[in-house]
Amino acid sequence: MEKVRVVNTIESVLLNEQNLLDTACGGMISSSERINGVSASLEDSQKLVRYQDKDEKIYYGVIEGDTIFQLESGFAEIAQGVFNYDGVEVLLNDVKILIPVEPTKVVNFGWTFAGHAKETGGTANLKEPFLFLKPQSALIADQETICLPPIDLTNKVELEGEVALVIGKSGKNIKEEDALDYVLGYTVFNDVTARDLTKSDPQFTRGKGFDTFGPIGPWIVTGIDPTNLKIVTTLNGKVVQDGNTAQMSLRIPFLISWISKVMTLEPGDVLALGSPSGSCPMKSGDVVSVEVEHIGKLTNYVK
Ligand code: MG
Repeated sequence: MEKVRVVNTIESVLLNEQNLLDTACGGMISSSERINGVSASLEDSQKLVRYQDKDEKIYYGVIEGDTIFQLESGFAEIAQGVFNYDGVEVLLNDVKILIPVEPTKVVNFGWTFAGHAKETGGTANLKEPFLFLKPQSALIADQETICLPPIDLTNKVELEGEVALVIGKSGKNIKEEDALDYVLGYTVFNDVTARDLTKSDPQFTRGKGFDTFGPIGPWIVTGIDPTNLKIVTTLNGKVVQDGNTAQMSLRIPFLISWISKVMTLEPGDVLALGSPSGSCPMKSGDVVSVEVEHIGKLTNYVK
């Protein structure tokens, strides 16, 4: 039964029946039969990874245990719930994990947790979101290195462990009640921040926008409830942040709706939802991990 797992509930039922038949007859469903999974919804939880194989080809795949079931489908198809498997299985350990999406924009919400707003001199319990953008050039994958800028530019680079959502379909002026329908899934984010620059500059662009200041991944998880996810950040193995999205002062559907009144959200766009308290400086040689319940652990090295 473990072999059968497709996104569409109806197809899942059909394939399960087929699997029972096959198993009864001594047969197995091969992964090459994981094809043409056309989903009406992404309610079942799936772990979607983007990676580079040994031949340096880039794919998406669905993770089960230590195995990736490789997809022919690209992001646009996946976002529409179309999962075409190509029959190849690879081990997670044998590939290089890449950033899970290539967004047109990374929208970051600040001070959505009162504790973090207070510790950084921000405003707690805002009625409207405080936001900024990170460039795509800031994004790095799991296991990659956060490069500290030269000391004459900043000497206070801090971690911020966050949950980020990935948009699945284009939307403008999205109603709050429809907002979660626009979400493909959730991933882990580290909103790396040059704290001295976010304090000195009139805008956050420089303090948030250095190359490598946006670790994201390792994968996207669909079909989970984002409103009660534990976020734990460790620095060199020591817990420095221990929060939960349940502590957010603004609701996620409100954030999506609100930003969509300003800019069209496109498939693959990332909305980082803000950091709990415990943000602290990092130095060269450090290892930072952000772990979010039901999603996974994002680990990066600091140099
Ligand atoms: Mg942040």
